[in-house]
Amino acid sequence: MHDDRALMELRGHYRMLSNAVPPKFDNRATDAGRGIATAARDGVARAASVGLSLLRHALPQACALCAAPSGNALLCTACEAALPRIAAACPRCALPSADAAVCGACLAQPPPYVAARAAWAYVFPVDRLLQEFKYGGRLALAEPLALALCAALAPREAPAPDCLAAIPLAPRRQRARGFNHAREIASRVGDGIGVPLADGLRRTRETPPQAALRFAQRAANVSGAFVADGDFAGKSVAIVDDVMTTGATLASATRALLAAGALRVEAWAVARTLPPVPSRD
Ligand SMILES: [Zn+2]
Ligand SMILES: [Zn+2]
Repeated sequence: MHDDRALMELRGHYRMLSNAVPPKFDNRATDAGRGIATAARDGVARAASVGLSLLRHALPQACALCAAPSGNALLCTACEAALPRIAAACPRCALPSADAAVCGACLAQPPPYVAARAAWAYVFPVDRLLQEFKYGGRLALAEPLALALCAALAPREAPAPDCLAAIPLAPRRQRARGFNHAREIASRVGDGIGVPLADGLRRTRETPPQAALRFAQRAANVSGAFVADGDFAGKSVAIVDDVMTTGATLASATRALLAAGALRVEAWAVARTLPPVPSRD
């Protein structure tokens, strides 16, 4: 009974957010050095994209996961409700933790971010959804992903951050992909919670994709890979990424923001990779 009520409240909140977030599907490539011609082309693309978005909202959709009719949403109610949430998570690292207490790993070695939040566990079908979004070119999925993150942030005690920052892609990778998936999510989360998305968190160098590396190699791979040259001094910042795996990328970006004078940094991700299950052999 109690759980039913909590679920209904979450759904009510979800609907509210769904109305609050404007249907924007613009592709904000904001790399420095963008020329006027590119800006004009982007303007046309954005107008076309907004047109398509309006059309999408006018036509019944098929759920991105099960293809059942899903009204004007990209996920049907049943699939959305069945996505794997982490019921009780450590407030520092967002991994499952009994009674949502700070976990032993964070007590022993606290991460540089003061809090971490994730909407879902990175397991099926969340992995499929994020891969579709990132590599399948389904940019429109940024909307339900951002809504899920907003819903996960809703029972929040700390004040809202002053600004959000998206984990940047290396310029070459962003050019190849055409968009930064983290920024697409972050801008919609910012719209949903009324917090501006700040520029000025950049990569200092190309790094091999984290997914290609073992867990132990990831911290070294992204160490010193970011610099923050935006207006972060004295600010509370939440960094947004799609997937938080070891937390190494978010930790490295956090250190860059703290070095730029940020007072407080949180790490927010759509999905949290659960630690590997130890072998019983
Ligand atoms: Zn579905
Ligand atoms: Zn923890």
